[in-house]
Amino acid sequence: MSYPRKNRLARQVSPHRSQINAQRFRLRLLICFGVLILSAISFYGKGQINPVTGETQRVDMTIEEEIRLGLQSVSSMGPLSTNRQATAHVERIGNQLVASLDEFNKTANRTIPYPFQFHLLDAPQTVNAFALPGGQIFVTTGLYRQLEHNRYMSNTQQDFDGRLAGVLGHEIGHVIERHAAQRLAKSNFIQGVFSGFEVFDESRTSRVNSQSRGTKMAADAADWFIGLQYSRADELASDGWGVKLMALTGYDPTHMIEVIDILESSATGSQPIEFLSTHPRPPNRRQYIENLILENSQNGTLSEPR
Ligand SMILES: [Zn+2]
Repeated sequence: MSYPRKNRLARQVSPHRSQINAQRFRLRLLICFGVLILSAISFYGKGQINPVTGETQRVDMTIEEEIRLGLQSVSSMGPLSTNRQATAHVERIGNQLVASLDEFNKTANRTIPYPFQFHLLDAPQTVNAFALPGGQIFVTTGLYRQLEHNRYMSNTQQDFDGRLAGVLGHEIGHVIERHAAQRLAKSNFIQGVFSGFEVFDESRTSRVNSQSRGTKMAADAADWFIGLQYSRADELASDGWGVKLMALTGYDPTHMIEVIDILESSATGSQPIEFLSTHPRPPNRRQYIENLILENSQNGTLSEPR
């Protein structure tokens, strides 16, 4: 019995095609692993020593780049409040915390490389606070009013100042720990991994982003930072800095717990609140803060936040 010509050809060609397909498969596999390995080398090669904490961190920006990126993004964060008194209040408390940090670091022979600046955003309907890399820190007027008066809490000027110090101290913590820069490094790493999988996936074509990463980052930075989610460890480390700076400056650190209460009771809008944006939320966060306060008060001096 003979096969029709077409089928015979198909039988002859088939092994050759399967060889080509196998070669293509191996090539894609090699490219995929190559991209993954390069991503991993790039990610793990980004180690820098944090000038304040002394820790080695995975970041791919210099501190000067962080400062520049933060300054470039300030105008995109939204209109600033025209209330001079409230703006001066935010600046005063923020600068007090920075002065305490500076003083504390001098004893450890360290300097703060960040030119901190504190801004009050004209956003009465938004309860939030943010830190851009490099020391630009923002509080919305919506949060400012919540810190000023809460019907379930004592509302003296001292309480107001203490709560504001808690918010600003926490945000200073994100800057010191370079959390945003670390998130950026991780997002590039993750992007590289996805690129690897896209090469492996036949249905997708390789996409080369011709736009430089630096340009794109500057253009989208404000949106990216507003929507940024930190890890639970990042949030707790920033709480630690908040407690430490409050105590060093003479504010009662228990106001940090009030800050958490105020923010949780305000977390009804569509926009996530920076303090609470981590998923899942840190369990027993109040207990963690209470323990920090207790440890530090027992020691008489505040230990490094960890
Ligand atoms: Zn935070």
